[in-house]
Amino acid sequence: MKDYIIEISNLYTSFFIDSQVITVISGLDLVIEKGKVFGLIGESGSGKTMTALSIMRLIPPPGKISGGKIFFEGKNLLSLTDKEMEDIRGNRIGMIFQEPMTALNPVIQIGEQISETLMVHKGLSRAKAKEQSMELLRKVGFDNPDKRYYQYPHQLSGGQRQRVLIAIAISCNPSLLIADEPTTALDVATEAHILLLLKEIMAHHNMSMLFITHNLNIMKRFGDTIGIMYAGRILEEAPVDDFFHEPLHPYSRGLIDSIFALRPDEKRLKVIPGFVPRLSELPEGCKFHPRCVYVMDRCKKEEPEFKNLGNGRWIRCYLF
Ligand code: SF4
Repeated sequence: MKDYIIEISNLYTSFFIDSQVITVISGLDLVIEKGKVFGLIGESGSGKTMTALSIMRLIPPPGKISGGKIFFEGKNLLSLTDKEMEDIRGNRIGMIFQEPMTALNPVIQIGEQISETLMVHKGLSRAKAKEQSMELLRKVGFDNPDKRYYQYPHQLSGGQRQRVLIAIAISCNPSLLIADEPTTALDVATEAHILLLLKEIMAHHNMSMLFITHNLNIMKRFGDTIGIMYAGRILEEAPVDDFFHEPLHPYSRGLIDSIFALRPDEKRLKVIPGFVPRLSELPEGCKFHPRCVYVMDRCKKEEPEFKNLGNGRWIRCYLF
């Protein structure tokens, strides 16, 4: 039997604005195996970041989680007190954000920022926290941590700042790391270094990861399982190799075609027709139906369920 670090079932997250309810996560089911990377893929506004913030219980008002369960290490995170959740957030689940410059405090030395986390969450003395911060800086690839400790974020490159954020995220040895587009702001070479570093850290600390990205190429190299998100729902979930060998959902096929199917004789990228719908104006039935070339009458009226096809493959589409 598979061992999961997190099991999310039927999760709903909504924003309540005046008399309007905008549901940003709708009936989400997602599990992550221990020691594995789950890649959550989707375009902007598909609900990827809202999924991460829901797990952390950091949905900003007027939003809130309106239904479902999030089991993490045997506890339903949605029934914990704020204090219990704070402990989990710092100690058991670490998070790395897309833009390290905004996630770090610009007027505090980077070493101090790592130490602060260790003092707050692990109760270490200042001296012990400093010692461990140096060690963490070394672990994420700085070869002169005693000098780096006293630097400010603006004195580092984008890749170095991301390394500092990784050091903070892993400082308390979390069992789950959530990385929200951690390499989007970086150049390709730095991105490769950061991905390699994350893999090493995961293996060394036996961590699991929820990796959020819009980049299918990264997931092809980096992920174990992939979930394709659209309009607050997962439309397809599969082991990475199976997914790239044979994507099933029409939206997944469109995404893959738009990136990988450019033959030498083709002058233009294939694009999926139409636009991602606004969450406040979602169509009836299958949320992808206005853009789907296989649309049937039924698709316009009823939303398909998330169906288990076996062998780790799940799909939300009437074709299967
Ligand atoms: Fe297309 Fe219908 Fe499948 Fe939706 S349910 S993806 S509209 S075939």
